[in-house]
Formats: sequence, C-alpha cells, structure tokens
Amino acid sequence: MNKIIYAFSMLFLVACNSKKDLRIDLHSFSEPHHVITTHLDLNVEVDFENECISGEARYHIENKTGHKQLILDSHGLQIHKVTSKDKNRNYFLGEKDSILGQPLIIELDKEDDEISVFYRSAPNSKALQWLSPEQTAGKRHPFLFTQSQAILARSWLPCQDSPGVRFTYEAQVKVPNDLLAVMSAENPREKNVDGVYTFKMEQAIPAYLMALGVGNLEFRELGASTGVYAEPALIEKSVYEFAETENMLRIAEEIYGAYAWDRFDILVLPPSFPYGGMENPRLTFVTPTILAGDRSLTSLIAHELAHSWSGNLVTNKTWNDFWLNEGFTVYFERRIMERLEGIAYSDMLSLLGRQDLDHTIETIGHSHSDTHLKLDLSGRDPVEALTDVAYEKGFFLLRLIEQTIGRKQFDFFLKKYFSENAFQVMDTESFVSYINNHLLNEQPKLKEKIRLEDWVYGPGIPENCPTIKSDKFKAVDQAIQSFERGYSLANLDCKHWSSHEWLHFLRHLPRNLTGKDLKKLDVAFNFSKSGNSEILNAWFLRSIPVGYKAAEKPLEQFLMTVGRRKFLKPLYEALYLKNPTKARRIYKNARGNYHSVSRETLDELIL
Ligand SMILES: [Zn+2]
Repeated sequence: MNKIIYAFSMLFLVACNSKKDLRIDLHSFSEPHHVITTHLDLNVEVDFENECISGEARYHIENKTGHKQLILDSHGLQIHKVTSKDKNRNYFLGEKDSILGQPLIIELDKEDDEISVFYRSAPNSKALQWLSPEQTAGKRHPFLFTQSQAILARSWLPCQDSPGVRFTYEAQVKVPNDLLAVMSAENPREKNVDGVYTFKMEQAIPAYLMALGVGNLEFRELGASTGVYAEPALIEKSVYEFAETENMLRIAEEIYGAYAWDRFDILVLPPSFPYGGMENPRLTFVTPTILAGDRSLTSLIAHELAHSWSGNLVTNKTWNDFWLNEGFTVYFERRIMERLEGIAYSDMLSLLGRQDLDHTIETIGHSHSDTHLKLDLSGRDPVEALTDVAYEKGFFLLRLIEQTIGRKQFDFFLKKYFSENAFQVMDTESFVSYINNHLLNEQPKLKEKIRLEDWVYGPGIPENCPTIKSDKFKAVDQAIQSFERGYSLANLDCKHWSSHEWLHFLRHLPRNLTGKDLKKLDVAFNFSKSGNSEILNAWFLRSIPVGYKAAEKPLEQFLMTVGRRKFLKPLYEALYLKNPTKARRIYKNARGNYHSVSRETLDELIL
C-alpha cells in the first residue's frame, strides 16, 4: 500500500470510528444502511494440509445512499485483492479489535453493483475446526466444520456479519476427492470424483447461518423432506435416533405455519462440536452426544427445527435481542415435544430448564443486568456473554403469556407474527410494541397480569413466573427420600424412568453423599458407564466433589473426546475446585480437541 493510499485510508478510518455509535449492530463494522450485500457467489477451495479456506467471495451490492465505500467484517483474513468486474478496487483493513476483528473497507465507484474479494482464512480461524482422522468416528479421513454464530463467520468469509443483513448465495467448493462437502443450502447427497460441489441457497440468510461441513459423509433419508448426513460409522445409529424428525416437522408446521426452507436435514458432527446443535438452515449441525441409542435426547432436534421459525425466519436484530431467537425456540421446542410425547414429558423438560435458569441467575446475581431479557453486550463477545437467561427466562415469559391469554389466541398471534415478519429482523422494542398492538392492548386486565416490561427490561425471575408441577418428578423426589432413609436401591421403582427423571434424580440427591453412597448407586445403575451424555455429565458433577475413584477414568475419557461447552464448563469448574493441578493437566491434553468457542471459555477458567 503506498503512502497516499495509506493517508487516504486513515482518513476513512477516522471517519469510520467517529460515527461508530451510529452503527445499528455494535458487533459489526458494516454499514448496511449505506451499502448492503444482497447475494454472494462463493468460490473456494478447502485446504486440509494448510488448514485454510481460500478463494473468491463475489457480492452483489445495493448502494442505498451513493456511498463511496463498502465495509465488510473480517477476522484474521488475508486479503489478496478486491475487484469489481475485473477492475481493481482500493481497499484497506482498519484497526484490529480483539473481539470484532477488522473492517475491510473497500472504495466504490458510483456504478459498482458487485465486488469480489480474493482472500484466505487464517490457519487458526475461529470459526473453523480442522479435525485429524483420529478425531473422527471412522478414524480414516479428516473433517472440517464451521461454527459461524455469533460473530465468527467473518473469520472464514469476508461478509457483513450482522444478523440484520440477509443475502442469498451460490457456492462452489473444492475439497479433497474422497470427501463430501455440505452447506446450509441445497446439498449433494453423494461424493463425486473431482471433489467439486456446487450449492444454492435461494432463501436469504444472515452471515451467522453460513455453514460448511466437509468429511467422509453418507446421506440417508428420514422422510420426504428430512434426512441425515453422518460418517458411515454413525449413520445407522443416527437414522434410528432421528426417526421422528419428519413427524416433528409436520407437527411444527401445524402449529406455526408452512416450513419455509424446503428440506430439514441433519449433519452429525464429530464430538468436538462445541454446541448441542446449530440451526444452519436446511442443514442443522448436531453433536453426536445426543446419539443416546434410545431417542431420549431428541428434544434438541425439535429445538433446532423450531429455529426454522424463530431465529432463521424472524431473526434477532442484534445479539442484544438474542432472547427473541432462543426464548421463542425453547417455547416452540416444548410445544413440539408436548405433541410428540405428551405434556408430562414436556413439563419435565420445562422443569429441568427452570433448574438451569435458577442456577444461572444464582451465579450471575439476581439483580445483574445480564438477567434481563434485553441485553447490553457492547464491548463484549456475544458468545461469552449469552446465558440460559435468553433461553429459559424467555421460555417462561412466553409460557406466562400463553397461560394468561389462552393457548388458542396465543397460537393465532404467533402464527401471524411469524408470517408478517418472515425473512426480517426483530428487535426487543419492536416486539414489545408488536405484541402490545396485536394482542395485549385489547385485554388491559390480562396485560396488567403479565407485566411484560418487567420481564424484558427487569432483573431476575419475576414473581408471576408460571409454576410447573410434575407427578413424574414427584415420584423421583419420593425415591430420593427412600434412598435417604436407607431403603435398598433395588426396590426403587425406576424401571420406566426417562433420562429426564434420571437427571432430576442425580441433581437432587443429598449434597453430603460419601464415596460409599456413590458406589452403591453406581453398582445399582451403572452411571459411570452410561451411554447417555446428559446422565454422564450429571453423574460426574456428583462424583467429582466426592473424589469417587471409579468415575475418574470415564470422566477423563469424556473430557478427552467431547467438546460440547455445556458439559465442559461445569465439569472443569468442579474439577478445578477439587484439584486444580489435575484439571490443568487434563485440559492441556484435551485442549487440542476443542473448538475455539469452548477453548476461549475454558482458557479463562483454567489457564
Ligand atoms: Zn437455540
């Protein structure tokens, strides 16, 4: 870059910084109110050897204000050149921010309606996880997956990385020719000989839903509109586990209207995936830790499916409005599970959710502003700051509205809400005014009962939070009392317990259990060898503080293979409290298996 361009660039940068606060989304440098990207043609190659993605991202742009620059987000990207219809365009990367990355500022000509960026991702790109063959189920082929939410898309693709910017896309992706590539788009079902795959996504999506997976994958149909991709070693298990998916899709459509994304397929990832699931449109990414062998953890599929309405169709405008994505989705997930398994089943899910919420609020502090539904995440990494509050407090608010107004009327409202706001963004303030205008103002007495603003802008759990009773959990509580009174475990009436009952059991056992007590439990119920990740996690949380020996090896093995942050965080916290040296030792060995999302949380905790 020569001096004149540099000086010119600095002027741009100062201008950009001075109006920083005018940006609608403080987690993106882009200024879509001036110039917005509307379509992406992506042409990239996936290089496993050098662990990078490189190629061309060509955007169709709409210059709304005759602006002289397009700003894209980037994080660690190497930019080789920028062109518009083969003519070079000046560009520069602005100041680095440790959370947001750097703005890629491109000078535009008046007539520019497309811009091509030739780039390469960094070897340590935060969104990408490159797995060696040993880290996969089949042990013979490498694997790559992306995790773009919340603000990581910019680390593998220059983009306007804000939930408020939607674009359609087409892609051509070259991968090693023994692997299959799949995206959040119309997907291939079989490998081809040259390893070049093409994709088309006709429904506009925000950048955080851009997704790519590459591995030795097979496809199986689950139903007319649903299917699953997995490594051959996991495909049969996956087909069995997700057999209800088509049924879930039909139920969801009956409740909230037509599914807008044509197909709902699932990609089963290796265990280092940092989340339970990621709702990438047309292709939900899931952790293999939900393959319990008995379909007991598939509410996660209902959750990701529910995002096809809340999140993917009506999208939170910024990460401060995250509860509009997650609270609605948890509510909808439980409605699907209620239809599928009955109210007693979904109420158990709600009660476990309430237990998580109570624990989170206890940890954050009841009056802390992070317990509000509307958040203020400025200056923070959304991935680190988002908690159960958005999910579970959001759920309980919607359940309260449903109970107060009546399910029929609330469903009618929600259906209208999704259809009137489809493919648009929603912020908290607009939602509050929408629901007031379309539902609550007509019924002032009920509105007064709900006190929506207290829930949205106030701390903790308001007093009018619905209480949920469960006969199933009552029976578990009685079993715990019998255990405390010294009754033999063999006499416990637990043959038909679901994982939810077992979780409730493990969470509510007395605090003062000894190693001997744990041994008795382990002999009776084989917890240390459970094939159910949720039960294992709950069991380890009991065994760690006691120092129960027989669970130590299985715990270490679990931490060495599973990368799901929801499990890792509490387990490492407990382990660190008990034995910091051991926690550090295991973490140092396991860290290479974890995605950056999990690593960043744990580095802070342990290193
Ligand atoms: Zn979710």
